[in-house]
Amino acid sequence: MDDSDVLIVGGGIVGSTLALLLGEANWRVTIVDAAPAPEEIETLGQGKPALRVSALTAASRRLLTTLDVWPWLASRRVAAYRGMQVWDAEGSGEIRFDAEDVGVDSLGHIVENDLLLAALAQRLQALPNVEWLQEVRLTGYVREKTARGNEIDREDVRDAGRALVTLDNGEQRRAPLIVGADGANSPLRGMAGIPVHERDTGQAAMVTSVRTAIGHGGIARQAFLSTGPLAFLPLTIDGRDDHCSIVWSTTPGEARRLTALGETDEGRSQLGIELARGLGGRLGDVEVIDAAPHFPITQRHAQRYVDEGLALVGDAAHSLHPLAGQGVNLGLMDAAVLAEEWIRARQRGADPGDPRILARYERRRRSENAAMLAAMQGFQRLFGSDLPALRFVRNWGLSGVDRLMPIKRLLIRQALGEYGDLPERCR
Ligand SMILES: Cc1cc2nc3c(=O)[nH]c(=O)nc-3n(C[C@H](O)[C@H](O)[C@H](O)COP(=O)(O)OP(=O)(O)OC[C@H]3O[C@@H](n4cnc5c(N)ncnc54)[C@H](O)[C@@H]3O)c2cc1C
Repeated sequence: MDDSDVLIVGGGIVGSTLALLLGEANWRVTIVDAAPAPEEIETLGQGKPALRVSALTAASRRLLTTLDVWPWLASRRVAAYRGMQVWDAEGSGEIRFDAEDVGVDSLGHIVENDLLLAALAQRLQALPNVEWLQEVRLTGYVREKTARGNEIDREDVRDAGRALVTLDNGEQRRAPLIVGADGANSPLRGMAGIPVHERDTGQAAMVTSVRTAIGHGGIARQAFLSTGPLAFLPLTIDGRDDHCSIVWSTTPGEARRLTALGETDEGRSQLGIELARGLGGRLGDVEVIDAAPHFPITQRHAQRYVDEGLALVGDAAHSLHPLAGQGVNLGLMDAAVLAEEWIRARQRGADPGDPRILARYERRRRSENAAMLAAMQGFQRLFGSDLPALRFVRNWGLSGVDRLMPIKRLLIRQALGEYGDLPERCR
């Protein structure tokens, strides 16, 4: 007897969104997540900004709007940005994007991850068909064999093998479908034996929050330094535009040094000076108002997104350099496409676990994600190089593209997430 229609391992932004998409369509969903429930929802989105934020595209916002998550978020705290400036700190190349160039109000929104998770949790708690096991860890996974032995007849739904999972609370659960939304180190991916291509980027990302002397004016800024990109993401705090969230990608040794600076008052003053310098003084003096932890940056791509009755979504399928702020957005598109394929299959009386349906999900998502991973790799190589020829190319390229409106419009559409085979809810 199945405990649910689908068991989702991982209740991060991507797993929770998938649970909501399927739960709203009346599927019986179980989410298993190692993390505790979001705390103090009432005070989230007040005072100091959270350290982890995401730049969401217009396509992601549309998805969250159809799920009735966006209005709650927007009533708390989100920051729209209408422009982007990207430049080579070692040269003269610069490119500027403006929402007006494509006739939209904003290029995207910065949201605090905790707030988005709380918004999703609130919506999920209202669905009686969604069961959420919090602070519970997946410890084992096998696919049960059918009564006929090892041969599974893929055409016969009732005979298909079930996912049998073991949890660290001593329980076992069964479901015909299982999803790995359990992050970049995905335990489920490992247990299912799905290999990954892995590339160490040689970088780590330091994050912190700052107050700046000059308002950001709704512009996201990114300077390519010789050690890696430094991003100032605009936040709106109590209606003011003098706060930014920082993502500074650099060498692991340098990231450790920056994190250590974040531990004392004196160190934070020094970090503020270095951040202001890194940004070429564009926002004046910088005051660091939080700690400065860092995260390793490893690019990973699962060689397969699907297995028998199993699908990987979000960072479990792909993790990439944060320089284009695309990780969450790609994961949300995975969730929307998978839900679209599964819900449609069920509506026409087909088995969502049919390998052809899982293959369609993989086809729709893997090539797009692969293109983004390749682009990030190319960017990192181009900007990480001191070779004079590459320097010339990037300076000439940035300024040249800045003057070419059709190419700029195309890039803006990419930033808006409006490209490729979009799921219906995101169009
Ligand atoms: C510094 C930095 C900045 C970033 N900035 C951006 C940005 O601006 N925009 C953007 O789109 N992306 C950004 N990203 C990427 C983004 O954070 C990730 O792509 C995103 O969080 C992935 O979400 P997820 O739900 O797939 O995985 P996760 O958020 O990693 O969630 C995985 C979940 O699985 C659970 N889990 C793990 N193991 C188990 C287990 N054994 N049993 C049960 N549960 C388990 C965990 O508790 C967790 O809740 C950034 C990343 C970094 C490092």
